Amino acid sequence: MRDSAGGPRVLLRRLRELMAEALDPQERLDHIVREIAQNMVAEVCSLYVLRADSMLELYATEGLNPGAVHLAQLRLGQGLVGTIAASARPLNLSDAQKHPAFTYLPETGEEVYHSFLGVPVLRAGRTLGVLVVQNRTMRHYREDEVEALETVAMVIAEMIATGDLARLTRPGIDLDLSRPVSMTGLPFNEGVGLGHVVLHEPRIVVTALFNEDSEVELERLETALDSLRLSIDDMLSRRDVAFEGEHRAVLEAYRMFANDRGWVRRLQEAIHNGLTAEAAVEKVQSDMRARMMHMTDPYLRERMSDFDDLANRLLRQLMGRGADALAEILPKDAIIVARSMGAAELLDYPRQKLRGLVLEEGAPTSHIVIVARAIGLPTVGQVKGAVSMSENGDAIIVDGEDGQVHLRPQADVEEAYAEKVRFRARRQKLYQELRDRPTETKDGTPVDLMMNAGLAVDLPQLAQSGAAGIGLFRTELQFMVAAAFPRVEAQERLYREVLDAADGKSVTFRTIDIGGDKVLPYFKGAQHEENPALGWRAIRLTLDRPGLLRTQIRALLKAAGGRELRMMLPMVTEVSEVRQAREIVDREVRHLSRFGYLLPTRLKLGAMIEVPSLLWQLEELMQTVDFVSVGSNDLFQFVTATDRGNTRIADRFDPLSVPFMRILRQIVRAGDEHGTPVTLCGELAGRPISAMALLGIGFRSISMAPAAIGPVKAMLCELPLSDLAIVMEEALANHSASTDIRALLRDFANRHTVAL
Ligand code: PEP
Ligand code: MG
Repeated sequence: MRDSAGGPRVLLRRLRELMAEALDPQERLDHIVREIAQNMVAEVCSLYVLRADSMLELYATEGLNPGAVHLAQLRLGQGLVGTIAASARPLNLSDAQKHPAFTYLPETGEEVYHSFLGVPVLRAGRTLGVLVVQNRTMRHYREDEVEALETVAMVIAEMIATGDLARLTRPGIDLDLSRPVSMTGLPFNEGVGLGHVVLHEPRIVVTALFNEDSEVELERLETALDSLRLSIDDMLSRRDVAFEGEHRAVLEAYRMFANDRGWVRRLQEAIHNGLTAEAAVEKVQSDMRARMMHMTDPYLRERMSDFDDLANRLLRQLMGRGADALAEILPKDAIIVARSMGAAELLDYPRQKLRGLVLEEGAPTSHIVIVARAIGLPTVGQVKGAVSMSENGDAIIVDGEDGQVHLRPQADVEEAYAEKVRFRARRQKLYQELRDRPTETKDGTPVDLMMNAGLAVDLPQLAQSGAAGIGLFRTELQFMVAAAFPRVEAQERLYREVLDAADGKSVTFRTIDIGGDKVLPYFKGAQHEENPALGWRAIRLTLDRPGLLRTQIRALLKAAGGRELRMMLPMVTEVSEVRQAREIVDREVRHLSRFGYLLPTRLKLGAMIEVPSLLWQLEELMQTVDFVSVGSNDLFQFVTATDRGNTRIADRFDPLSVPFMRILRQIVRAGDEHGTPVTLCGELAGRPISAMALLGIGFRSISMAPAAIGPVKAMLCELPLSDLAIVMEEALANHSASTDIRALLRDFANRHTVAL
């Protein structure tokens, strides 16, 4: 492999000279690409700039056909260059033409080049273009070459951002973005938000790139790191954080990262290479993002956004900007647009000014989404290109129901959504009025509507929604937002807080349901599994690692001293698992009583019905447990062999079908026969039409997201339940397994004016 001619420091020095010379913008660009090609011993170096119409235009090239400059273009997402721009990540290929995204542009004459290295031109997280080098031979570019190109890309980003290149655009074509754009992503949290864009990362724009004196910069870095560590310690000792479990856990993770030696070493290296401290932070962060490209583990990726968060905090320290300034400049209807984001960062924004959240990345289980949901923020994720397309202050609409984002919407779209928001507000008011009415059907059957929760931030919803209690407290969420296993004291503190907030209403704590897609990065025992949903998870895992379960049970028993404690086991497959868990509970009770602790007044142990094999053990199960709760999300996935997270098949089979309804009815009947209370806590409980079906087959208690309680209650107050029960009985009787239950329910609702 050939060596590069001079390395990044030399190249940076040359670029600095070029920036200072009196050249016109095109000349300057031409010199820059030539200089890069020479320095990296590449035959080609080209720069593509992203236009407002989402096209990437060739702005300068060394090595490709010069006649193609300002003519060759690719769509965002098209070809290798478009892929880099859309993903904001580099591509390093020894044989570019074999890559599935390769697109040949005849005007450039690039067919003779095999190896290809392209990096995004990023400024504060936003893609402005793509910088590419190519070689004839098949070679793999070294890590330091990727670094050098990324560093140069930062300089070019600065030229684009300062408008230096705007003079090169053809008339009628804009570099800045002004047209309306609609984008589709995944709905992560329902609700509609209208407001103005606040780009999450551009809070910090690094403009001083080259250092004059590495020693001075190293000192600046050290000082900033010290104050960063102090500020995290400070936040940890704040009263509100000290009492709120998940905030604290996230911040403790940051404290750990802030002391990460590898991170600090990489920052120092970048400074030695000629960057300022702030440019070094940005550079190391881009590298980490690039490396993240190869990670498929969502939890490791989640750790990366914690690092991102930390890097931003460090930049703020270096550039002397505090988080308080942010609150002041925030519009009162802010919609945060981010590539990805740490959970603690979202909590930094004043909630009352937030109207929504748009993420280019994120998954339903990522920390940021968990927290967004907990604070009731309309959220759409996986919106490709959102950051590149948006500008601070742009009008924007987030539709968390359809997963739509409308940027700079036209007047009619905006009006339609404003109406939607007004309609929702009216409905919300109606639900509030309903809140204090008894929860019973039109014909007088009382029903318990419970809510699902998992974080301390969920708790105020208990009073706001009028829920009868917490039917499912997902204790694993505390584990998921932490950097290490929460200590028994932290667990106890959270459980106590939950029980205090419930103030006598019933709370069902589910023991940790980890494994499957809920991987804890700090849990060393887990290995890669071929089929994690069917793997070592939930009760299987905690029975194999009884220390984990024992600690949690101890925390629960202590927190519930003097009151009732309800615990529920996830993913039970055999009744014997309940017996084993009960033994652990009994042992802990004996232990605590020996040491004189105040014990719960009553202790109830329940099982979730999520694994089909339990359907053939219902008799024994009902006699063994104090209650059961159907986890319809998992039960449906296993009954129909349909991955619950796979959007391609998500709507293929309907839970409101004869077979699934028959299964659920069988569970209710078994519970009735043995006097064992039965409830259901999956997503089915939260939609009025499916909640209606559940009541129709005999459920009298269901648990759902807090926002669903109003709509479900509105439905049930109008519901003539005994008539519906007859209709359902008839439909599930022997005639046909393909009866359209959904249509039947709609028809029933229409005839009886039940709002669905
Ligand atoms: C379920 O499976 O229906 C359930 C409530 O548990 P989770 O969604 O947490 O798996
Ligand atoms: Mg489940």
